[in-house]
Amino acid sequence: MQTIHMCDLYGQYLTMKEEIDGAIQGVIQSTHFIKSGKVLDFEQKLSEYLDAHVISCGNGTDALQIAFMALGLEPGDEVITTPFTFVATVETAVLMGLKPVFVDVDRDTFTIDVSQIEELITPKTKVILPVDLFGQCANLEEIRALAEKYNLYVVEDACQALGTDYIFKNGTTQKAGTIGNIGCNSFFPSKNLGAFGDGGAIFTKDDELAAVIRSIANHGMKAKYQYERIGVNSRLDSMQAAILEVKLKYFDQHIAARQKAAAYYDQHLAGIDGLEIPERVDYSTHTFHQYTLKVERRDELQEFLKTKGIPSMVYYPEVLHLQEAYQFLGYKKGDFPVSEKLVKSVLSLPMHTELDEEQLEYIVESIKEFFNLSQRR
Ligand SMILES: *Cc1c(COP(=O)(O)O)cnc(C)c1O
Repeated sequence: MQTIHMCDLYGQYLTMKEEIDGAIQGVIQSTHFIKSGKVLDFEQKLSEYLDAHVISCGNGTDALQIAFMALGLEPGDEVITTPFTFVATVETAVLMGLKPVFVDVDRDTFTIDVSQIEELITPKTKVILPVDLFGQCANLEEIRALAEKYNLYVVEDACQALGTDYIFKNGTTQKAGTIGNIGCNSFFPSKNLGAFGDGGAIFTKDDELAAVIRSIANHGMKAKYQYERIGVNSRLDSMQAAILEVKLKYFDQHIAARQKAAAYYDQHLAGIDGLEIPERVDYSTHTFHQYTLKVERRDELQEFLKTKGIPSMVYYPEVLHLQEAYQFLGYKKGDFPVSEKLVKSVLSLPMHTELDEEQLEYIVESIKEFFNLSQRR
């Protein structure tokens, strides 16, 4: 059996090697390493895929910062989000002088608990920032309704959910990242659509906002050497765009491969005592950036899998409100009990496009062995 990887980027590359190598060579020969037609080509193709404007940028963290900049927020404005996410979501808000206001997550879906948002809305609240964690959308239709009621923006952190479909109550669908006023995405190598380095993008369906975002990402430029606002330098380089353009062709196929692996895990792990498979919801598909279990004896299982040569990861091992850097926000232990419990029980299994049945079988049999062994003890 092949070595089991948490995420097999090299194996995936080999399936597209010729095309990717050709794309890289093409950029080298053109020497247009920055701001080339390649970048615009890729943006155009992704824009068609998503049915929204796509403005590429340096990484997902920049995408969040640029989103905040584009909305013209004032220092002290409040951003409602969750403490069970990657740090960038909160870090960029703080860097922009905004105040993160945390809401606990829903235990089953890991996404923001919408029922707890309304009570936290104050006159300073300007943004609700749901995170489509692990590849499944937050309950965006309800969040959008709340935002409309209180005249707030929705910034969707869709960094883990590119390609996921949000399903509205009327049956129509829209791609993750295009449902809020602005959506943020990352092309970090292990993300659903991963580059060979850093990359990110900002999505919006609003033409005016799209123009503002494009200007901000490019030094606040209006025309060459004319600056209409304070901006940043954040761009996707041509090499990454060329690679991503190749990978976008296979993107739906790659999502299907992740979903097939997830279905195998589901089928063989459902019903095991002491383990919960990821919950599905009727308002979103799942693209499985991560396949994340809840396991009471998480650390023991992780150790056991390690002895079997099976990698697994804990996303995330600590909640943000208890991290040293965020003490100043004034939260304490017990403020977000669901998130605080999840960090002790979540375990993400190997998930990528190259997992074969032999590997999957070995992984589920090893997990079953752990639980059988422990029953006998
Ligand atoms: C990956 C990620 C980011 C940041 O993306 P980078 O490209 O690494 O800057 C932000 N938010 C979430 C939820 C992420 O998973």
